[in-house]
Amino acid sequence: MHIQRSFVILDRDGTLNVDRHYLADANDLELLPGVGLGLRRLRALGLGLVVVTNQSAIGKGIIDHDKLDEIHARLRMLLLDEDIELDGIYACPHDPDKDGPCYCRKPAPGLIEDAVNDLGFDPKASFMIGDSSSDIECGRGVGAFTILVRTGYGTETEKRDDVFPDKVVDDFEAASRLIESELALDPDRM
Ligand SMILES: [Mg+2]
Ligand SMILES: [Zn+2]
Repeated sequence: MHIQRSFVILDRDGTLNVDRHYLADANDLELLPGVGLGLRRLRALGLGLVVVTNQSAIGKGIIDHDKLDEIHARLRMLLLDEDIELDGIYACPHDPDKDGPCYCRKPAPGLIEDAVNDLGFDPKASFMIGDSSSDIECGRGVGAFTILVRTGYGTETEKRDDVFPDKVVDDFEAASRLIESELALDPDRM
């Protein structure tokens, strides 16, 4: 079996779709502009695609696991309309206030470690795209190249002096172009 070394590790809310602050209804899921185009570009580069998302709405009792499955089924459907299939979606259901610290809530590395165990990619040869400090810290922790997008909470995150992404770009489409040029500079990464 050919193992794809390089993946793009994707945050969900504020990166792929509009951040609704505890999205609870699958029908409210709306892709951000340029996400379809950007994901197609990443696929065309031969990269794997995996979503890692903190969903404390479950721990808080705002949604249950079935509802989250419904939301992710709709995400997959919207992406399929754009000719994109994800390799996986990994979610942390815990609420840090109620459940205490867990090993899967970003910036902890548990979700990425689960994805690596299932999908066999090398996080150090991979990219992380997100809008929050937890995404950037999480990506840095596993040795990925980190990209902060100025969608969702991105413009607020950019102002912080304790967050250190490798690059900051306006949106997902720009992130995909950046990855294309990084790979052109360093094809051995893959
Ligand atoms: Mg986010
Ligand atoms: Zn967790």
